[in-house]
Amino acid sequence: MPEAMVETRASDATRSASTQVVDVAVVGAGFAGLYILHRLRKAGFSAVVLEEAADVGGTWYWNRYPGARCDIQTIDYSYTFDPELEKAWTWSEKYATQPEILRYLGFVADRYDLRRDIRFGTKVKQATWDDTTDRWLITTDNGASVSCRYYIMATGCLSAPKPPEIDGVKDFKGEIYFTGRWPHDGVNLKGKRVAVIGTGSSGIQSIPMFAQDAAHITVFQRTPNFALPAHNGPQPAERKTMLEGDRAAYREQARWSMAGVPYPQQTVVSWQLSDAERRERFEKAWAAGDLVHILTQLWADQGVDVDGNAIVADLIREKIREVVKDPEIAAALTPHDHPFGAKRPCLDTNYYATYNQPNVTLVNLRQEPIQAITATGIVTDKRSFDVDIIVFATGFDAMTGAIMAVHPISGRGGKSLSSVWAGGPQTYLGLTVAGFPNLFMITGPGSPSVLSNMAVSIEQHADWVVDRLVALRDAGFTTMEATETAQAGWARHMADCATLTLHRLANTWYTGANVPGKAQGVMPYTGGVGPYRSICNEVVAQGMLGFKLTGPNVAEQCNDGEVVRLQPDVRLVLGMLAQMNLPPIETMGAQGARDFLNEFNKARPAGRPVGEVGDGMLQGADGPLPYKLYRPATSGPHPIVVYFHGGGWVLGDQQSDDPFCRDMCRRTGMIFVSVGYRHAPEHRFPAAAEDGYAATRWIAEHTTELGGTPGRLLVAGWSAGGNIAAVTCQLARDRGGPEIAGQLLVSPVTDCSFDRPSYSENGTGYFLTRGLMYWFWDLYCSPADRTDPRVAPLRGKLDGLPPAFIATSEFDPLRDEGIAYAEALAKAGVPVEQLKARGQFHSSFTMVDVIITGVNGRMKMAQALRRFADLPADASERTPPPREINVAAG
Ligand code: NAP
Repeated sequence: MPEAMVETRASDATRSASTQVVDVAVVGAGFAGLYILHRLRKAGFSAVVLEEAADVGGTWYWNRYPGARCDIQTIDYSYTFDPELEKAWTWSEKYATQPEILRYLGFVADRYDLRRDIRFGTKVKQATWDDTTDRWLITTDNGASVSCRYYIMATGCLSAPKPPEIDGVKDFKGEIYFTGRWPHDGVNLKGKRVAVIGTGSSGIQSIPMFAQDAAHITVFQRTPNFALPAHNGPQPAERKTMLEGDRAAYREQARWSMAGVPYPQQTVVSWQLSDAERRERFEKAWAAGDLVHILTQLWADQGVDVDGNAIVADLIREKIREVVKDPEIAAALTPHDHPFGAKRPCLDTNYYATYNQPNVTLVNLRQEPIQAITATGIVTDKRSFDVDIIVFATGFDAMTGAIMAVHPISGRGGKSLSSVWAGGPQTYLGLTVAGFPNLFMITGPGSPSVLSNMAVSIEQHADWVVDRLVALRDAGFTTMEATETAQAGWARHMADCATLTLHRLANTWYTGANVPGKAQGVMPYTGGVGPYRSICNEVVAQGMLGFKLTGPNVAEQCNDGEVVRLQPDVRLVLGMLAQMNLPPIETMGAQGARDFLNEFNKARPAGRPVGEVGDGMLQGADGPLPYKLYRPATSGPHPIVVYFHGGGWVLGDQQSDDPFCRDMCRRTGMIFVSVGYRHAPEHRFPAAAEDGYAATRWIAEHTTELGGTPGRLLVAGWSAGGNIAAVTCQLARDRGGPEIAGQLLVSPVTDCSFDRPSYSENGTGYFLTRGLMYWFWDLYCSPADRTDPRVAPLRGKLDGLPPAFIATSEFDPLRDEGIAYAEALAKAGVPVEQLKARGQFHSSFTMVDVIITGVNGRMKMAQALRRFADLPADASERTPPPREINVAAG
């Protein structure tokens, strides 16, 4: 029996006659509300949609300004849940206009007979959770209140227009319009003097249209934005063919992509391409007229690295200068204060060319801020402009505005959502909020939403929510509520994701910076649509991880915890490795494992350029050894870091950690000499240790020839290389030098014991396994030798060693022995700095340009090496990053 019927009978006596009782109430009849209503009905729930507007459409109902179109290709910006619907509707253009999209949504509403459950012209005034009945009570400004078990916000991300925030608006005697609330019967601009404030997507789409009709148009621009030509027209044949070739596969690829549009992941990095190759890619993207293409398909580092991004940004700036004839206007229109894509770029038709028209004036508010709006127009610091019409294209209180500001929402114990979110939105998965049972948000803050193709994200959210409601009903549960632990974990994961992209480097509505006084932090989930979908699925697969479920006749269930504890890029890499289903490395044999590693390394991004890379031979403990030298581009001499690669004393060589050596050479401004020490099983203990020491001594003796600074020798190593570096310091102390100024040990092997917790906690599933470590040890060192400090430096004498920086990773079997070494060194009076990297795995710091979240750790390592060498803190050859804002949402 549908729950609504039970509720009606049970509560009729106590509820006012004007209360509508349903299983689910949904706010908003846009893309999200329509689909969720359809799904709810199919699942047998009674539902009502409350919609302020007079018809369906949501954002497409309100945003009717001239030029309004979608800027994701319509082929992708469509529902995909019903193949018959897809066949029944054909879009006329690559980017449909607002009227066509509105017709489409009306068509969908009719096709599935949705209107009968939508209360139009009905604004929600208040929503209150009732702890005694476990239901939401919704009051409205039009007709019956609603009592519902579940309350779903399908309110859209950009639906609460922002107030103008300019003095004197009320004094203006002319007409005032907001792009986000454009009159349904249009506005006659013929012969009028029009002012437009704002140059975001709405301004950029509408300004060329206004300029066609108005006598004069004056654009008041505070911040120039990147805009790209849409090249609108018929649907591109290439994508249509792709879709029609295999519709299901096309849609599935979109669902698992990063942005909700089926584009592959780029792996080529900018510095691997010549100028000509980069330009060719850029021109192709420019001609494609597709935001997702240009944002994701140029080179892998464009969205995550300031330098890789600057190349695209410069090419776009060049395009602006080519189009805009007046150099001063071109300069004013050229964005400089944010990386390309960090602020939402726009898709335009003739935007920049419009400024060549004689009836268009650009006012640069950075040079002459608006003082006030007067009865006749707009006054800046320098001039006054008399106008007939002012159009505010000033944007929205995005992401949270529609949910929080539109009506008070009170959760468990009367807790208000506004106060819970006062410091920024707190959510679990962007779908739910702790303390607000049975409240769901479709594309809420904390979900990919505005950083994705909304159509794809909406379907994923609606499906996830309705599937959960069905599962709850089947199991007899009536409430579902996120736990505080899960929510705090999600905030951490959001912040981790935000460090990966450049969104944190711009003041935008993504971060709340466009609304004065709003808490700032990156609000949408930046980890990508596909990864997000897999996380939502994982929550379910792990028994509703992070949710408390209750019901009248069932035992409470609470599987508390955090769904993602790994750094987002580590999670992706481990997921990819798991999919490859590789045999354990220890089953490959030593040569097989070396061959595998060589192949594996070929797929990684090439290391970044340094001043010079050279090869040479040095003297090891028992004969010559190869080395690779990385020299900074700055003039020398430079301190030398003797580097020992990882690979369990068995794998790798002097170039297997090439990207790491390059990166550290750039960051430290020091020479890195990577030593090709001998390997097991051909050369067992103590060959590697003795080679490490001998190589260090040789390098010390040849410092000047190598271009090094005398007396400034350091050692570094990763994994087994960290072991050799640590051992080298002990041998140098005991055997009369050389003098070592500092040691950098990255996830080092320091002991022969396998019983520390990290060996069991992280023994499988994190690439370096317990089994692989056993194998390395067996190949290198017989059990009788394992307590020798030349392989277990933790068991050696520790005083009098050079200062150390020791980095360990949370999800690494070697974590605890690295920490133990740091603690033991400190106890012995050695200056030690520790980095305990949260969410990282054994290879995080050496997978340069793959594990982007490893950058901060390498920055700290570089700073430590420079301190050890008595150099000033910063040696960066990179462009200093722009000012960063708080990355955490809330
Ligand atoms: P927006 O991107 O927030 O742009 C608002 C503009 O108004 C900015 O240029 C802003 O300058 C300016 N502004 C705000 N307050 C101001 C003030 N007090 N004085 C002077 N200037 C002021 O808003 P939007 O253009 O409406 O677009 C919002 C989002 O909606 C877009 O990013 C996009 O996601 C979506 N949208 C999509 C389409 C589409 O093609 N499908 C069309 C329209 C909108 P500052 O940058 O200095 O703050």
